Amino acid sequence: MFDMDRFAKVNQLSKDMKVEVDSVQECHPVVQGRSLPEVPITELSMPGGKKMRALKTMLTTACERNCHYCPFRSGRNMRRQTAKPEEMARTFIDYYEAGMVEGLFLSSGIIKGGVSTQDRLLDTADILRNKYMYRSYLHLKLMPGLDCFQCCLASAHLKTGTSSSARRALRSAVLRAFL
Ligand code: SF4
Repeated sequence: MFDMDRFAKVNQLSKDMKVEVDSVQECHPVVQGRSLPEVPITELSMPGGKKMRALKTMLTTACERNCHYCPFRSGRNMRRQTAKPEEMARTFIDYYEAGMVEGLFLSSGIIKGGVSTQDRLLDTADILRNKYMYRSYLHLKLMPGLDCFQCCLASAHLKTGTSSSARRALRSAVLRAFL
């Protein structure tokens, strides 16, 4: 079944993340022959002057903190949206395979602390790298309060040239060292 709900969620999360409007273009995705709601695509400046079209988005716009400068602060009255790791990964891969984007920039509000939030970001990266075998650009936010081994795992996911067996070996080594 074609799940419109996950596209609506991810598109809304991406719209809420649209803060640098100069580098954003609105796109009208077509996936498996279906026209989907408009989604903003960000042009990132890469080292060497290269430009890259990326989906810049959040896993959730809900946040338990109230940083006064942030549009997602808990005290702000706004509608919140949350995607599951699989929903985010599958939707991004649909856009990637449709040729709309070349990379993913993923952040999140904090729910149930930094460790739990980082786990959901890492789960998304894991699905992308190991289930969908995605090898291109991934920008993954590190949450305040994350564990040291989560930092190692995040850095392994960011290395696009690292094989899945190398990542699995690193994951085992890190878990052995810290647990
Ligand atoms: S923790 Fe992050 S997302 Fe939450 S209010 Fe502060 S800056 Fe915003």
